[in-house]
Amino acid sequence: MMLEIRGLTKHFGGIRAVDGVDLHLGQGELVGLIGPNGSGKTTVFNLVTGIYRPDAGSVTLKGENLVGIPPHRINRLGVARTFQNIRLFRNLTVMDNVRIAHHSHLGYGPVAALCRTGRFYNGEKELNEIVEVFLSIFQLQNRKYEIAGSLSYGDQRKLEIARALASKPEVLLLDEPAAGMNPYEVGRLMEFILAIRERFRLSILLIEHQMRLVMGICERLAVMDFGQVIARGLPAEIRGNRKVIEAYLGEDVAIE
Ligand code: ADP
Ligand code: MG
Repeated sequence: MMLEIRGLTKHFGGIRAVDGVDLHLGQGELVGLIGPNGSGKTTVFNLVTGIYRPDAGSVTLKGENLVGIPPHRINRLGVARTFQNIRLFRNLTVMDNVRIAHHSHLGYGPVAALCRTGRFYNGEKELNEIVEVFLSIFQLQNRKYEIAGSLSYGDQRKLEIARALASKPEVLLLDEPAAGMNPYEVGRLMEFILAIRERFRLSILLIEHQMRLVMGICERLAVMDFGQVIARGLPAEIRGNRKVIEAYLGEDVAIE
């Protein structure tokens, strides 16, 4: 088991944002976490990545406790995420966005960089190679000198995922990566997610608001409503689930 979440609970004042959630993610699995707006999906990610501390419950990565560990250490242990609202350095180039993300994982500090030691040069060489490889996998190599903010929405999402992968995670948490995309971009993104799972041997938890998008690629789904998991199972089982259909009533999304 890569990631195991048990009894996870977080209340904000009177709001039960996450209320006794159990979830698990096996090696190489792609699991969808879906549910209407405000059902607690992003808060689950914030709890797993150490942004918030849970009121109750446990989170383990390969059996190791993550609760109470600061976000940067959880990242080092192998958990990376993207955000619902894209967080890129919009005024920097595509290449520099990836370089910065990789930089913190190289074996030299600012002193070595200033003094231009051998370690620095080796690090720079390694960094340039890694960045090239990444950009080609993400088919962004022709865009490397462009400003991140000028990319299409789909490419910005890809760049954000590229940045998340810079920390060499085993578990990738994607928070609504298809938000704001047109249907063509969504189709490409879903294929892309499958491809990087293979290439980087990732286990992926994918938050999506629109059920339709995850039906095609996820092996299992968990559906949240009001902080709780109200249904779980294969996409085909979730599709016709009465509780799920009711949870989505009044939501402007297609659930079939
Ligand atoms: P989702 O990602 O499923 O749309 P969220 O996890 O963002 O849902 O939010 C779940 C609930 O928790 C919402 O009612 C939201 O307003 C509330 N919430 C999330 N974060 C905070 C916070 N930092 N302070 C207060 N309420 C919050
Ligand atoms: Mg959210």
